[in-house]
Amino acid sequence: MTSTIFAANWKMHLGPGETRAFLDTFLSGYAARPDREVWFFPPAVSLETAAQRVTDRPDIRVGAQNVHWEPKGAYTGESSVGMVHDTGSRAVLVGHSERRHVFGETDEETARKVRAVLATGMVPVLCVGEKLGEREADRTLEVVHRQLGALEDIDGHGLDGIVIAYEPVWAIGTGATATPADAATVHAAIRSWMTAHGATAAAVRVLYGGSVKPGNAEELLAEQEIDGVLVGGASLQPDSWTQICTVPVD
Ligand code: PEP
Repeated sequence: MTSTIFAANWKMHLGPGETRAFLDTFLSGYAARPDREVWFFPPAVSLETAAQRVTDRPDIRVGAQNVHWEPKGAYTGESSVGMVHDTGSRAVLVGHSERRHVFGETDEETARKVRAVLATGMVPVLCVGEKLGEREADRTLEVVHRQLGALEDIDGHGLDGIVIAYEPVWAIGTGATATPADAATVHAAIRSWMTAHGATAAAVRVLYGGSVKPGNAEELLAEQEIDGVLVGGASLQPDSWTQICTVPVD
């Protein structure tokens, strides 16, 4: 059985000093558990601080929220995969809904980022999910399949190194959550897409994200199809994050 992933997306919160203070508190109360991994996605300026603070915790991984696909150049404000890797980061969020819908990132750019991340040996966490209107028009699977197209020509071995996060856009930061059964239906479709494209069934990991909190994490993770959670708001306080990271999982 693969371990359950508890991933914290801090968005534009917690600079280096706050990251150090958060991790001091969190690490003093959270002991490693063999059935789970905790992944932190701090802002770029806090990556090195976070990675250095967890070097003695193999159950904890640090990753970036975004990268550029080019190795270097005139891209003001961007960071390359090599730079991110050099901070000690071992994963990258790609195609988060805020990147797609606030910053206008396209499917094509998302695909380039996934390839660049894979080439460094880091784990891309590809975020997919439909907007409210798309859900209401019953287009959820069409949208998710289109977004998975970013992985179209990656071989099975490459797909085994990718994590998918299903995050319905209407559930991110809104307090609304997909029901565990609804999320499981989309997760099953994602799993089928991945295996149909060559991924090993046992290696496919699909996280759910969208207003996960201490009160709903356990019921979401009780679904066989949900291999972990990606959490924004409720990961910003050590207390609520520790509560989520310690919910029972099968
Ligand atoms: C996210 O940012 O990926 C997210 C799921 O946010 P929230 O948990 O706040 O909905």
